Order: sequence, then structure tokens, then C-alpha cells
Amino acid sequence: MALEHFDVLIVGGGLSGIGAAHHLVNKCPGKTFAVLEGRAATGGTWDLFRYPGIRSDSDMYTMGYAFKPWTNPKAIADGPSILSYVRETAREAGIDKHIRLNHWVKRASWSSESARWTVEAELRDAHGERIDTVKLTCNFLMMCSGYYRYAAGYTPDFAGRENFRGTVVHPQHWPEDLDYAGKRVVVIGSGATAVTLIPEMAKTAANVVMLQRSPTYVVSMPAEDKLAAWFRRKFSPRTAYGLTRWKNVIMGMIFFRLSRKRPERIKRMILNGVRAALGPDYDIATHFTPSYNPWDQRLCLVPDEDLFKAIRDKRAEVVTDTIERFTEGGILLSSGKELEADVIVSATGLALEVLGGVDFAVDGKTVDFSRTFNYRGMMFSDVPNLASTFGYTNASWTLKADLTCDYVCRLLNTMERRRYAIATPRVKGDMEAVPFLDFSSGYVQRGIGKFPKQGSRAPWKLYQNYALDILSLRYGRIEDDEMEFKRAPSPVRVSTRTPEAIAAE
Ligand SMILES: Cc1cc2nc3c(=O)[nH]c(=O)nc-3n(C[C@H](O)[C@H](O)[C@H](O)COP(=O)(O)OP(=O)(O)OC[C@H]3O[C@@H](n4cnc5c(N)ncnc54)[C@H](O)[C@@H]3O)c2cc1C
Repeated sequence: MALEHFDVLIVGGGLSGIGAAHHLVNKCPGKTFAVLEGRAATGGTWDLFRYPGIRSDSDMYTMGYAFKPWTNPKAIADGPSILSYVRETAREAGIDKHIRLNHWVKRASWSSESARWTVEAELRDAHGERIDTVKLTCNFLMMCSGYYRYAAGYTPDFAGRENFRGTVVHPQHWPEDLDYAGKRVVVIGSGATAVTLIPEMAKTAANVVMLQRSPTYVVSMPAEDKLAAWFRRKFSPRTAYGLTRWKNVIMGMIFFRLSRKRPERIKRMILNGVRAALGPDYDIATHFTPSYNPWDQRLCLVPDEDLFKAIRDKRAEVVTDTIERFTEGGILLSSGKELEADVIVSATGLALEVLGGVDFAVDGKTVDFSRTFNYRGMMFSDVPNLASTFGYTNASWTLKADLTCDYVCRLLNTMERRRYAIATPRVKGDMEAVPFLDFSSGYVQRGIGKFPKQGSRAPWKLYQNYALDILSLRYGRIEDDEMEFKRAPSPVRVSTRTPEAIAAE
């Protein structure tokens, strides 16, 4: 039986997948497509993470889609508002009816003979159990599956964990009924999740300790952007959004460049901000001064100094130390100090995952992505008709996701116009392999080995620069020297005998 076929299959119904579908509907109106989402709901990250205070850690004027103004006055927005924004986008553009929930994609096999991907998904029930396998085919496959493992976050093996009599939770799987009011809470970690959780939990917990092995740069910004509000009063929502977006893009780029060129100056500026918030007597050197330079790892943004206020009010405390082991009543530290706890939150991060954990094969040969080069931040050397979305590490994810979709739509339209069926990036000549990301963060270092490499030159180099990417992805040449195009393979011949030979029999 013929399999159901689409021009494009999108894997993932989160911010990127729904954005990709929106771009397709508008820029490639004739194309048939479906969005395969493994979970029972859309929204990805913004549906999965339910911990107290869940919010963005970059501003929504750059994290929103280019095509849909973010009109909420909160620049740093709570998870539920982001989720409604994503779902509203799906509803408004009629994308909803193209989304197939509970389709967890496991395998994708490319056949050069048919110029198609065959995509195999587990059909799951409401509890995530497999009930069937579904196969579909497509000409072009777009992976919008995020960058981390959905099944479980990363938790180190804490010695003595089994001895602890309280509750241990990971923010990726927050128990709906966890009651921490009046309890003693220890949050292990110093990243974005920890700094989000702590001020929120500190509102009702007896006390909250942020236990970190080493500090992170923490920067406070106003939850509401005054200039954005002024733009909104003066201009139409679309113009106001565009102006605020560009203001924030430019400020972000300047800040990043200065961090690279004058790290000491930026470091001083960040630490002065912390000192102003916590007072001259607070031990900033121990608790808020990382050993690395700003942007060697992602900075943590906090809205309206909420973390600092919780520390100032003595509702939260920072302890910088290492864990010796869990005890019955809490955590014993290497310094000999013991932290008493009823609830321990392991805000220890995500486990990176390459392309949604899908097994890929090209003409029967398994693809090992760590041996591929990444083309323009989205395609892979020697892998035909496959693109994936991976956002910026130094700016909002969506800025890059939007540009990725722009490029893929241009590629699809070029292929249609020129009657190409196959587009395969091919490295021409020698090139140095560079790690995909140059972040020193633990979660990146743990998982980056499985990622593709970037090259030392265009179009294989990742610039992490929105302005350069606009030039390359929105206006750059599609038919470049390192993208190989092929027309549709000739129809498969069933018999090797000529019609004359058959007639003579
Ligand atoms: C807590 C948290 C806060 C964040 N805050 C910010 C922020 O403020 N700013 C920012 O720029 N970035 C932030 N990020 C990064 C964030 O993940 C992205 O901004 C954005 O949500 C990514 O959207 P996405 O659709 O690409 O991926 P996701 O949101 O991860 O969605 C991927 C979707 O693909 C589905 N999927 C995965 N594998 C498969 C498969 N094999 N088959 C079928 N479906 C599959 C998943 O179920 C999911 O629905 C944050 C991340 C986290 C975890």
C-alpha cells in the first residue's frame, strides 16, 4: 500500500515547528505538509516545563516570531503566556489541522532512487506508550525537535541519594502536587532554571538555598521595557514590535561584541550591578564572580532584581561549595557544613540530543552526525533534503529559527522552479573541523561530541550573528558551489528488456 506522502514533514510542534509551518504556509503556499509532534500537546519547552515561576530568560521582542508581534507588556514573559502565543500562532494560521500529536519519530531513511524520506513514527497513547508504528514519506524533512532529550533531564549521581528522606525533583518533571510551602528547600545549580525557581519558591518556602559549585553571571533587567511601551503608544503594534526588536537585537550584539573584545570591562559592569543590588558587604567575589569571561557561558537574566531581592530579604541564600553526599536530612558539603532540606531541586540541567534522537540513514547507511559538517547552521554534509532548526546561543532562539525557515522556503521554491528534486550540501576541498558550539557550560561539554562540526569558513561556519545571517540566509545565493542539486531520478524501469524484445516473444 502506498504510504501517505507530503512535500514537507516537520518534526516537532514547539516554537520552531509551528514557526516553520507558518513560514511554509505563507512562502510556499502550494506545498503539502504535516507537523509530527511526539507529545500529546504542542508548545514543546513551554508546555513541558512546569516549575514555579517558569519564564523566558531572553526578551520576548526577540524571542517572538518576526511575523507576529509580541504585544504583552512583559518583556521577560511567563511560560503560560509564551505557550498561548505559540498556540495562537498555530490557530490563526490554520496550522492546527496539520499537526499530528502523539507521533514520536524514531527513524528516517532517505532513498536516492525515489528522492524521498520515509519517516517512521511511534504512535503513542495518552500515557506515552507505543500503540502502533506509522510510516509516512516526504520530499523534504525539517527537524524542529529542539536541542535536549525530552525523556529526562540531566542529574548527576549524587552519593547517598537513597538515604535522603525528603523529596528530590528535577525541574524538567515538576510534580504537579509538590507542596513546598513552609519547607526548607535546596536548589542545586546556578543556571537559568535555578535563578528562575529560587525567587518564586522563596515566596512561600521556609527558606531556599541556592547551592552552586561555581557562580554564573547574573544580570538584572526591567521586566517591562519602557521604550517598548512608548513605541506601542506612538506606533501600530507591528511598527512598535519591529522597532523594539531591532533595538534589542542591536543592543544584544553590541553587548556580546564588547564581552568578547573587552571582557574585563563587561565583567566589571555586571559585578557593579550585582554589588548595587546586594550591597557592599555581600561576598560577591565568592557567589557571583565566575572564573570565565562573560558569554563563555550563557548569562542569566533576572527580571526586576527578583533573585537579589529574595537574597536581600533573607528568604534565599547562596552557598558556593561542592556536594560530599546526600544525608538523611539534607546535603553534606565538602566544607563540612550540612544543609538541612525537606525538598532538594536538582536544577542540574538538560541532556543535549541531536535531531530529536531520530536514527537517520541515507541509502541504507546510518548517518553519524558527528562526522558531518553543518551547512549554514541547518543542513548536513552528504545528507540530502534535511534541515534542522538550532537557535542562537548568544541571542534569542527564534531570531535564528525564523531565518532558517526563510532559507528553507527559498531553497524549496528554487528547487521547484528549477525542477530539482535533491539538494545535498557537499564539502569541496579541505576544511578544518570546529566544534558546533564554543560554550564551556557543562551541558554543552557533556553532549557536544555527538553534534555535527562547523567548518572554518562560509557556508560551514556558524557566525552566531543575526546581521550576518540575514545577509546569508535571507539574501544569500541558494545555488552555491557547495550545494549539489539533482533533478528527479528517472522513473524506475521494471524490466531491462526492450519493448521490441517483449513484442517478439
Ligand atoms: C526552561 C527553558 C527556558 C528557555 N528560555 C529561553 C529563552 O528565554 N530564550 C530563548 O531564546 N531560548 C530559551 N530556551 C531554549 C528553548 O528551548 C527555545 O527557545 C525554544 O523553546 C525552542 O523551541 P523548539 O520548538 O525549537 O524546541 P522545543 O521547545 O524543545 O520543542 C521541540 C518539540 O519537538 C518535539 N520532539 C522532539 N523530538 C521529537 C521526535 N523524535 N518526534 C516527534 N517530536 C519530537 C518535542 O516533543 C517538542 O514539542 C529555553 C529552554 C528551556 C528548557
